[in-house]
Amino acid sequence: MTVTLPPTDATTTLAMQELYRYLHAHPELSMQETETSAFLTRRLDELGLETFACGGTGVVGVLRNGVGPVVAYRADTDGLPIEEETGLDFASVARGTLANGTDVPAMHGCGHDTHMTVALTAAEHLATTRSARAGTVVFIFQPGEETGAGAIAMLTDGLWDRAPRPEIVYGQHVWPGLAGTIDISSGVAMAMADSWKVTVHGRQAHGSQPDQSIDPIVLGAHMVVRLQTVVSREVHPMQAAVLTVGTFHGGLKENIIPATAEFTLNVRTFDSDVRTRVLDSARRIIGAEAQASGAPEPTIEVLSTFPRCYNDPASTAQLITELRGTLGANAVLDVPPVMGSEDFGLLAEAIGVPSVYWMFGGYSRDTLDASDTVAGNHSPHFAPDSEPALAAGLTAALTAILSRVGAPASSLGGTA
Ligand code: ZN
Ligand code: ZN
Repeated sequence: MTVTLPPTDATTTLAMQELYRYLHAHPELSMQETETSAFLTRRLDELGLETFACGGTGVVGVLRNGVGPVVAYRADTDGLPIEEETGLDFASVARGTLANGTDVPAMHGCGHDTHMTVALTAAEHLATTRSARAGTVVFIFQPGEETGAGAIAMLTDGLWDRAPRPEIVYGQHVWPGLAGTIDISSGVAMAMADSWKVTVHGRQAHGSQPDQSIDPIVLGAHMVVRLQTVVSREVHPMQAAVLTVGTFHGGLKENIIPATAEFTLNVRTFDSDVRTRVLDSARRIIGAEAQASGAPEPTIEVLSTFPRCYNDPASTAQLITELRGTLGANAVLDVPPVMGSEDFGLLAEAIGVPSVYWMFGGYSRDTLDASDTVAGNHSPHFAPDSEPALAAGLTAALTAILSRVGAPASSLGGTA
């Protein structure tokens, strides 16, 4: 099917910019998107969608329009604990509270504000052009993407028992590429990710009496070094894996050997067997190093697990053709997978339907040409050029949705 998009006029562009500025100025941290959720629900209600809350701060909007295919489109809604430094006149001054009680600044530093803006605007387009097609669109506004808690929370809360089951789930993410272009991978698109907090238990003593101690800092340092051999010595050279120790904390004073030290590690893999191998090896090394030091068994706490993001090859090929039709023949790049992670894949995997996820560019040609490096996602300077980025994001979202529900009611045998 060739997708014909509804026209976007100046009013739409203005409304979309206003929406974006509002959402950008009001970020909330993962799984605390209370105001965002209320705002989204109000807008969706106004547009005549059936709405329900799901997974705490998640919102689902169902746009029913006669008998036809069912398609789902997901946008994530959470901000990050980052102090915004974009200098935009609608920059965020919001604050939030982390799970450990720390007060932090909040920013839509990953561009989830653009995702919500695109999804709401797409919903508006579809709600006001119903006669052009038949079918149901399920808009999923998912909280807590950054912590990997949101998709699973919505599924646990009965997402697919309460919303019509789609034949496919689509989603997209803004990134620092050229606005108007799409990067998409067929097959494995993004890595699985596993994060652990490891607490190394030792025995506290005076810094001058190491013989009385089991030094958790020396022990932890050995663990960190030896963990570097998992990828370099245990994973097949043609397989991809990353193991990063991102934090290490221990002790309060130079002359006290502390009782414990703590570090966190993050593992990225594309293949389940490689993932199992890396995690098993990490566990073995952490345990064995403790034993070598005569220390108690370390405590390993799983902080988060992100599933694989897999783009169904047939659906991806079809979507690439459609996107080239609406965005231009050279606008869509078929690219290798990235080591970033997403919990998007869970939504489709849970009901055994295909999904496709892609990246849309956030910067204008002028911005990209003006600097050797532009700010990427999670930078305090991340500020997409919202006009071209949102316009292209909207085109991509509508292209995907209408490639499934774009047929007029009559060609599908009437409406219900
Ligand atoms: Zn992010
Ligand atoms: Zn993100």
